[in-house]
Amino acid sequence: MTEHSTYSGGTHESGAPRESDSHSLSLGSNGPLMLHDVALVEKLARFDRERIPERSPHAKGSGAFGEFVVTEDVSRFTKASFLQPGAKTRMLARFSTVAGELGSPDTWRDVRGFALKFYTDEGNFDMVGNNTPIFFVRDPMKFPDFIHSQKRTPDSGLRSGNMQWDFWTLSPESAHQVAYLMGPRGLPRSWREMNGYSSHAYMWVNEEGEKFWVMYHFLSDQGVHNMSNEDATTLAGVDGDFHRRDLFDAIENEEFPSWRLEVQIMPYEEAKDYRFNPFDLTKTWSKKDYPRIPVGRFTLNENPTNHYAEIEQAAFSPSNTVPGTGLSPDKMLLGRVFSYPDAQRNRLGTNFSQLPVNAPKSKVNSYDKEGAMQFHHSGNAPVYAPNSYGRPYADQQSVSDSGWEADGSLVRAAYTLHPEDDDFGQAHTLVREVYTEEERQGLVQTVVGSLTGVVEPVLSRVFAYWTKIDAEVGAHIEHAYYMGLDEQVPGNDPQDDEIAS
Ligand code: NDP
Repeated sequence: MTEHSTYSGGTHESGAPRESDSHSLSLGSNGPLMLHDVALVEKLARFDRERIPERSPHAKGSGAFGEFVVTEDVSRFTKASFLQPGAKTRMLARFSTVAGELGSPDTWRDVRGFALKFYTDEGNFDMVGNNTPIFFVRDPMKFPDFIHSQKRTPDSGLRSGNMQWDFWTLSPESAHQVAYLMGPRGLPRSWREMNGYSSHAYMWVNEEGEKFWVMYHFLSDQGVHNMSNEDATTLAGVDGDFHRRDLFDAIENEEFPSWRLEVQIMPYEEAKDYRFNPFDLTKTWSKKDYPRIPVGRFTLNENPTNHYAEIEQAAFSPSNTVPGTGLSPDKMLLGRVFSYPDAQRNRLGTNFSQLPVNAPKSKVNSYDKEGAMQFHHSGNAPVYAPNSYGRPYADQQSVSDSGWEADGSLVRAAYTLHPEDDDFGQAHTLVREVYTEEERQGLVQTVVGSLTGVVEPVLSRVFAYWTKIDAEVGAHIEHAYYMGLDEQVPGNDPQDDEIAS
């Protein structure tokens, strides 16, 4: 808020006192309005421009600020200052649905975004994950098509189970994520009661330059609790902002939610021969092979004071790494590293990183400059590097600290398969070895409920897809569908906009 020494009423954006926030300027009490009524013109013009493009996807969400504290010693794996024992770092979390628009209900069945920004003393570190450890596709070339298939049809503007299942069944690498989504965790009871996963493998580098591959897991101290299809449907109508409200109220009531950070660490050389391609986003690293190691905990203890400025304008990107952390050869990750900042440039403007919620706490000395709404600048310092006038610049010429080796021809091809790589194996493990019998029955009901409006040839492919995941579950789905046992399970009819991606 702009400060004024004497005047305490409303002002123009120029800061000068405004005559009225209630009455427009007219020619007589009943007369026409005046174009030179700056107060009215300014107010209407700004109102006309209040909305910016919503995120696509992950439009509907909310979040809070908090603190991350490192309780363990992982310095043998990373030199990142915010990951050293005892380090405390202010951070921001944003949770969201994926497919729905800004006003969509929080309780549609969907993957949930789990985006974190750590304001470290070496620059911002962002972890832009989900509440699932995997994803639907493994090549960024398919990402826009995937999102299109989960949003709305071109003619009716409605969501469509047929379109969703058409894409999924033609993209069998989606099986693991679809099995996760249709299971109990596809409807979290609250954002506080879900885990977050980096989903991608990333890199850590220690002081000696030794590299490791790392998967981040954020485990809810509130436990993982989910919602029934029936409750989700009711809430979608009664309180579309249920998850947003839950998080805000909990923090207002000082019931601060927290998550433990644990990591899976893979020695650098083991990636080549691991039984699964460790960089394939549709796969997890088995915890039997790489048990989780505790690192620390983050606690959300501060609500936004202005949702628009601090949550809607928050911009997260996996490209925000800090020394001691890095990327991996995961093709989806490499695509996101370009696409996320680019989406924010489109949504918020070129200088989005200068907004207070996005600005790093560490000093910025970037030669990127100007563009709409530049606020911070480098004064009259040289605007080019190298320069002879004392402005520092980076000039590293060596093997990248957080890089990896690669060679070969330029190709358009799938990843090279590792011994146990396929599309359905890990989905089968999830459905058969992780889900309980009751959860498998719920899965069958949920899938059958999602098939309203699905027509041939997609329908037959759905049964074949599930049979490849698990023969028994596939048979149950087909049987229940044809026996009419689905009875439009509440919360699962995409014609009613209930199934999300
Ligand atoms: P584990 O038996 O060690 O791990 C199974 C994990 O599944 C649990 O730790 C839990 O993750 C998660 N889980 C438990 N219940 C559910 C549920 N109802 N819906 C979804 N996930 C659930 O075996 P592996 O590590 O060998 O993995 C086996 C399968 O477990 C994988 O194919 C994958 O589908 C799933 N999984 C694996 C994870 C991993 O990173 N290895 C993470 C999550 C799921 P958590 O403790 O994080 O809550």
